[in-house]
Amino acid sequence: MRYRGLVIRPPSEAGSYILQVTYGCSHNACTFCPTYKGVRFSPRPLEEVEEDIAAASRLIPYTRRVFLADGNALCLPTEELERILRLLRQSFPRLERVGIYANGGDINGKPREELRRLAEMGLGIVYLGLESGDDEVLRRVRKRDTCEEMVQAVLKAKECGILTSVIVLLGLGGKEGSLRHARLSAEAVSRMNPHYLSALTLMVVPGTPLHAEWERGEFEMPDQRGLLEELREFISACRLEGCVFRTNHASNYLPLKGVLSRDRERLLNTIERAFQRPEMLRPEFMRAL
Ligand code: SF4
Repeated sequence: MRYRGLVIRPPSEAGSYILQVTYGCSHNACTFCPTYKGVRFSPRPLEEVEEDIAAASRLIPYTRRVFLADGNALCLPTEELERILRLLRQSFPRLERVGIYANGGDINGKPREELRRLAEMGLGIVYLGLESGDDEVLRRVRKRDTCEEMVQAVLKAKECGILTSVIVLLGLGGKEGSLRHARLSAEAVSRMNPHYLSALTLMVVPGTPLHAEWERGEFEMPDQRGLLEELREFISACRLEGCVFRTNHASNYLPLKGVLSRDRERLLNTIERAFQRPEMLRPEFMRAL
């Protein structure tokens, strides 16, 4: 159970055994993302992965959930993922679910039969960063996939029996593009209708290209009120059924949780209250990536 570099995982995988199967992210070009800067992407040697699984099976034999890190581990060849999933099943008799991060291209590039096989072998949930439904924004921040590619990826994963969790990034449209970013993101996720949806809030981190743009005055972040308005616009425009929505990530000012569309009014009322009572918002110093 050894780790190299910064290892991240979605909040919902907090209780999972994190198994690093790649180092870094194969794209590593998004201008807002500090996570793997300076890390050269590489698959982790399989023998090391196997050694870690063996060690974990002795230390935490009752593991029910495993998360495969790093950035977009689904880019690994399917045979390699199958080998890892097989070993996990053999090593953890109570294993219920394996999660993984993916880019749209990782899903779109695999035939459906392969995705179905991975699902049958325990790959239960895939986390995808849509970030924005606005292609203009996606191009500007150098995301790898277009909005349409992300929509197709989520639909394909669902069709193959894998739960999907999609992330949008509040603030990424900047101050001027804020409401357009909210509306187009809502439109995209409504077409996807993922099982889970999270909104995170952009933090402009020193050392990233986006921070340099911000310093040059080429990017302006919406203020706290602007971000609440963006969140309100986003939730109002979402047309989702049975999708668990959360803003519980530490980057957000206002933690929300509900099922869309059932809880839309309650969530919108909470946002309205937060406009009146700023003490409901997470203080700046407590925000984190
Ligand atoms: S694809 Fe994800 S992990 Fe990779 S650079 Fe972009 S935001 Fe960061």
